[in-house]
Amino acid sequence: MIRLSVPFENNTLTIIPIKLGIVKSFIVKGKKTVIVDTGYAGNGNKILRYLNENFIKPEDVSLIILTHGHIDHYGSAEELKEKTGAPIAIHRSDAEYLKKGINYMGTPTGLFGRIVKSLFIRTDEYISKSLKVDIVFDSDVDLHEFGVSGRVIHTSGHTEGSISLILSGGVAIVGDLIMGGFLFNRVPHYPLFVSDIFKLRESMKKVIQLSPKIIYASHGGPFTSVIAEEFLRKAITY
Ligand SMILES: [Zn+2]
Ligand SMILES: [Zn+2]
Repeated sequence: MIRLSVPFENNTLTIIPIKLGIVKSFIVKGKKTVIVDTGYAGNGNKILRYLNENFIKPEDVSLIILTHGHIDHYGSAEELKEKTGAPIAIHRSDAEYLKKGINYMGTPTGLFGRIVKSLFIRTDEYISKSLKVDIVFDSDVDLHEFGVSGRVIHTSGHTEGSISLILSGGVAIVGDLIMGGFLFNRVPHYPLFVSDIFKLRESMKKVIQLSPKIIYASHGGPFTSVIAEEFLRKAITY
């Protein structure tokens, strides 16, 4: 995975994607460091190793933020909190589910999602481990107070509490708002499941209108705004 350093106003923000099997976690390093998502359980040490290799001390991590409440994103949050002392944050709409360990899956967007649902999940809700969260937020969050230049916006649709990070220097991290294909992972697709396809499209528009140069997704990608916009236009018209 390639690390990216983006300059802005005499400053630099470094984004380090970490591949954790089928999903990614991101280290965002500014004055302090924010970790975005954590993969399935058992990835705490691997993320810590990446911090170490990039000369980031565990105590420099100011926040562990979850793009949404699915186990492939929050599985190692507890481990990382123990190792760094940083608080875990999630949007209120997904926090309620996490308390009970419920992963709300919703509606499949295509054939593959339908197969996964009928084989493994069967119901709209999938029970996994619960997670205690430290910061629950309702609206946009300014990340400056956590030492990173950027903000969090609510981008519901994959789940009700899905969020995206809009960072200085033209970088967006969008979780499962959009994903890459299994064969061609730079080709954008809808996520396998959605809580609300109309909200998802509105959230995609919201991100595209901010014109990020690069859109990092948790599965596949990254994408440019132009490619994401073209996908959305075609997806709406057919
Ligand atoms: Zn998800
Ligand atoms: Zn995911």
